[in-house]
Amino acid sequence: MIVVLASTDAGERVLEALGDARSRTQAFLQASPPLLSVPELSAAEADRIRATPGVVELCRDEGPLLATRRLLPDDAQVRVGPIAFGGEVIPVIAGPCSVEDEAQVTGLAETVKAAGARLLRGGAFKGRTSPYAFQGLGRAALPHLSHARTQTGLPVVTEILSEADVELLAAEVDLLQVGARNMHNTALLKRLGQVRTPVLLKRGFGSTVDELLYAADYILAEGNPHVVLCERGIRSFERGVRFSFDLSAFARLKSRTRLPVVVDPSHAAGDARLVGTLAKAAVAAGADGLLIEVHDEPEQALSDGEQALTPPAFRALMEELRPLAAALGRTL
Ligand code: PEP
Ligand code: MN
Repeated sequence: MIVVLASTDAGERVLEALGDARSRTQAFLQASPPLLSVPELSAAEADRIRATPGVVELCRDEGPLLATRRLLPDDAQVRVGPIAFGGEVIPVIAGPCSVEDEAQVTGLAETVKAAGARLLRGGAFKGRTSPYAFQGLGRAALPHLSHARTQTGLPVVTEILSEADVELLAAEVDLLQVGARNMHNTALLKRLGQVRTPVLLKRGFGSTVDELLYAADYILAEGNPHVVLCERGIRSFERGVRFSFDLSAFARLKSRTRLPVVVDPSHAAGDARLVGTLAKAAVAAGADGLLIEVHDEPEQALSDGEQALTPPAFRALMEELRPLAAALGRTL
């Protein structure tokens, strides 16, 4: 049973009232609203808890809670520096798959900013399928990202692979990306719930909408309210695309969640020629942001070159997206 509390202060009182059940209770007192989770509550215990001052309601664990509109009906806006996700602006996050060197990432930051991107992406730690593939520059990439941010003013998005890097990266970057391969890494999610740096949580390519929302709940329940979701395509039987952009799941996600939902057409397509079509479909469908890979020399890229847009292609796509966003009462 999940106990919804009126305030954090009510937590201690309710824990007291739980008696023996206290030892099996998990407390999420930093969450909004604060919660307790008590397995196997008897009917008598439930009645006692319900009557305790500060208890709003008891509900069963019948699906994701904090990432949905079940307890908090209003949609959340998530701020990353001066940028808000979930408002009128549809922020475009753009940049290389991997940070390769300072000149590369700074040059691309200037390029994507001039085209209208609002945030810079660039992987320092890369979660790759093959252990032999480029794994990113690691810590050495962080000064390059920081230089690019100083030069352009663009907030920086980078992927986090490990709990061990949370402290380091939370202080260094503006938005921490949890990759598709880590969506089920609950230890990492819990740790990200304990910082206040915003998190961009990507859907695993074999995960359901509810599994994504539960993953978001892991972060929210620990107290970090700044979570943006990302649909990036799922594995399907189609071999002509790297992944399949799951527009049905996107629509379902938007109808269920109070969190902003960004779309990554680059990984869904896996082919630069298809990225624009998916990006336009995403904006038309109500995406709260886009994540697009851009590279000066895609054929030389250390990762994901096949799907990277060249700067002219990125500029052209931004010009196509602008009137589409305007028709929906939004701006890029
Ligand atoms: C990426 O954004 O470069 C990436 C690895 O994404 P995903 O986790 O969606 O594969
Ligand atoms: Mn990539």
